[in-house]
Amino acid sequence: MDSRYLPNLSWTTIRDLEKTVGVVVLPIGAIEQHGAHLPTATDALLAERMTILALEKLPSEAKVWRLPVQSYGKSNEHLGFAGTISLRAETLMMVLHDIASSVAASGFKRLCFVNAHGGNSALLAMMAREIRIATGLMVFNTFTNAGAPDPVEIPELEAKFGIHANDWETSLVLHLEPELVDMTKAIGHYPNVPDGLIGLTSGAAVASWLTRDWSESGVFGDPTLATPERGAIRLEAATSALAKTLLEISLFGVPHE
Ligand SMILES: [Zn+2]
Repeated sequence: MDSRYLPNLSWTTIRDLEKTVGVVVLPIGAIEQHGAHLPTATDALLAERMTILALEKLPSEAKVWRLPVQSYGKSNEHLGFAGTISLRAETLMMVLHDIASSVAASGFKRLCFVNAHGGNSALLAMMAREIRIATGLMVFNTFTNAGAPDPVEIPELEAKFGIHANDWETSLVLHLEPELVDMTKAIGHYPNVPDGLIGLTSGAAVASWLTRDWSESGVFGDPTLATPERGAIRLEAATSALAKTLLEISLFGVPHE
């Protein structure tokens, strides 16, 4: 029995957990287009599976529990592609607020979002502080790789523009769920961003991009680089970094508290 999966426990067991230290983890992904070669569940799948694998790496005494994955995220940059199911920003804000309030009411002290979808990031950063103020929980925000660098060598263009349905995501799903990937449909595409001050993810100014303006296939990156082996190397690096981060969060306290 996976006792780190909070819904596996009874309410009395959860009530009686020692919670002075410890963190509840909410994996959050998206259901959205990921090119013709990857399932729309890619981000939800990666959020859940990478969280599970990270928790398996923790020492047995670590107090880290996970909630079911929040599969639906804010994916309106991909609207216009079939299968993209997006929550409005205000809906996701209310969902996060209600989950966090329930976590706080159950007596936990720390909550961490493990996010697999870039389109959720700005909202999660904002909500982390809103929830901190509203509930008293310490709230943390991390990505599925916990900020760890890509351990696999990639071309410059992939590093700059490989942000969606790219080599990284494709290799991870190829390793975890190969039957969900159709590599015969994988095609590379980099957005044609004019040289200048304006970028899509960084730059003097950042354009608020919509996928349909920049990529007919829905891909930003080169998924043809992906192999299950590259996925295995990346998964190991990312989940090790995530495990270390969650362990530190579980013990974290503001010095004056
Ligand atoms: Zn994705």
